[in-house]
Amino acid sequence: MNRQEILSHLKENPEVSVLIVGGGINGIGVFRDLALNGVDALLVERGDFCSGGSAASSHMAHGGIRYLENGEFRLVREAVRERNLMIRNAPHLVKPLPTAIPIFKRFSGLLNAPLKFFGKLDKPAERGSLVIKIGLMLYDAYTGRSSRAVPRHTFLSRTASLKKWRQLNPAIVNTAAYYDGAILQPERFAIEVLLDAEAENPNARALNYVSMVGGMEDTVILRDELTDENYDVKPKLVINASGAWIDASNRKLGLSSRFIGGTKGSHIVVKHDALRKAIGDHEFFFENDDGRIVLIFPLYDCALIGTTDIPVEDPDDVRCTEEEVDYFLEMVARVFPDLSLTRRNIVFRFSGVRPLPHSGAKTTSQISRDHNIEVISGEWTNLDFPVYSLVGGKWTSFRAFAEQVTDKALAHLGSTRQKDTRDLPVGGGRGYPADEEDMRRQIESLSAWTGVARERLKILFERYGTRAEAIATFINGGTDHVLQTLPDYSLREIIFLAAHEKIIHLDDFVLRRSMLAMLGRLTRGSLEELARALANALGWTKEQREAEAARTLSILADRHGVVLPNEHRDAVNADENEGRGRRVVE
Ligand SMILES: Cc1cc2nc3c(=O)[nH]c(=O)nc-3n(C[C@H](O)[C@H](O)[C@H](O)COP(=O)(O)OP(=O)(O)OC[C@H]3O[C@@H](n4cnc5c(N)ncnc54)[C@H](O)[C@@H]3O)c2cc1C
Repeated sequence: MNRQEILSHLKENPEVSVLIVGGGINGIGVFRDLALNGVDALLVERGDFCSGGSAASSHMAHGGIRYLENGEFRLVREAVRERNLMIRNAPHLVKPLPTAIPIFKRFSGLLNAPLKFFGKLDKPAERGSLVIKIGLMLYDAYTGRSSRAVPRHTFLSRTASLKKWRQLNPAIVNTAAYYDGAILQPERFAIEVLLDAEAENPNARALNYVSMVGGMEDTVILRDELTDENYDVKPKLVINASGAWIDASNRKLGLSSRFIGGTKGSHIVVKHDALRKAIGDHEFFFENDDGRIVLIFPLYDCALIGTTDIPVEDPDDVRCTEEEVDYFLEMVARVFPDLSLTRRNIVFRFSGVRPLPHSGAKTTSQISRDHNIEVISGEWTNLDFPVYSLVGGKWTSFRAFAEQVTDKALAHLGSTRQKDTRDLPVGGGRGYPADEEDMRRQIESLSAWTGVARERLKILFERYGTRAEAIATFINGGTDHVLQTLPDYSLREIIFLAAHEKIIHLDDFVLRRSMLAMLGRLTRGSLEELARALANALGWTKEQREAEAARTLSILADRHGVVLPNEHRDAVNADENEGRGRRVVE
């Protein structure tokens, strides 16, 4: 069913077993698990899918080695297992991530864990080699229990470290190296999980740009953000997966809660060849001099740098500030002092809010990253159905959290689990080539069958895993051409995505169905060409196309610090300034 069909169906049939409010990774995870178990679930997301906290992550599928210090052993064990499952089930999107920890002290931090345990540590303290060694041994022990998807940790001497990473600060005493997972394209991961759910169960339906705006007795009111039209639904259960907005969503249902104490985290993406070369394929994960754990992460040809952890009240209002940028630039200089990273290297910024539980912890790093379900039900509410609020959690543990929520929901509906998601591949991870040779063979046979060039197919496989097959088949069904401004994309590829991936706005494509914005690949020209391609697919008029381009430019500037110069005007200005007055046409 397409968007309009789902909405029309809803008008005639407002009954639904489960209404999920919020299309971040947690709402989407529950949606998939319920769909798999035959439940007619409806998911509504007020913006695009995966555009809230789930779009702001550090891209790590990780067990959270530092949570060991907080005594959160259950969480680490679960997250390590889930990290391994993500690598196995979505190999096109989640890859093993070699990680290096540069260490500046040997014995510091020995008392961190006991002090934290007794609540006596009110600010983070630096961890030395010994503490990190103990942490990594424990971490390996957890990894070993589940299937070993990644190798064990190693420790490198100062000399060996400086030989391996030549730009590293010579003040280090050691480096430790271990593996975690990289979620290369979190937003694509989320949409593929969602599409799997709909493919599994025709009674599972998901709508972006639909908000939950109110509710009373047996009814919840939804609003289509594209038309302002309201729809009533009558659920047996509401799952409030609205992340940092959980308490606000509960208020809309007439419920008072104080579950969330969100903290904001920001990142910058930089294009700096020397830094990118200096880190190689390793993430650098280390302690800044204020004791915060920060990272420099290899993201395609860029580096992702983050993050901060600052309590906030209004999750709608977060931006990566100039102070945070200063903090990031200084922290990179601490580890790679000879690389001059500046604001000019920043191609993208983002910021989001972790939906952490409301807590009295002395430092934000001490607030638990574990997840739990808060249930509100009973006669004192004005609702005939219970509301489960999904508090906390990590990207990495979304599947386990979803499983827990689904079991509870199934019990409420008087049903039992038929299938589980543990070994379920995600989207283009299905039938993914086992190795390079297998990949080569798949590409070869797909090329022979569809006539799409091997080089194009390689790109499609990298982007979409085995969904490349459906896309190549579609490409083969009509006249195609590569985009002039982005020759690694083609018109029919974009038409396919528009038809199958619930794209409503141009920014859905540039921010969440592709990495174009995040990797700083957009120009005015490419944005306009993409708008034309999408207009072709979605039937936009010229006015709509121009409005979409303007909307995207405004989001990029306001949220991501990206101002795309107007190439026509700037080129003319530049030439006029030089006194030549030549008009440059793209
Ligand atoms: C800076 C940062 C770094 C992180 N790094 C990592 C990491 O490296 N690894 C990791 O495992 N985890 C990481 N996390 C944690 C992880 O990203 C989050 O815990 C997770 O994404 C939360 O997902 P969610 O679905 O609960 O919330 P969200 O993704 O915020 O989803 C909630 C959704 O609800 C929608 N919504 C709100 N109100 C309504 C309404 N009334 N109607 C309809 N929809 C509504 C919002 O638009 C939003 O999209 C990080 C988080 C942050 C912020």
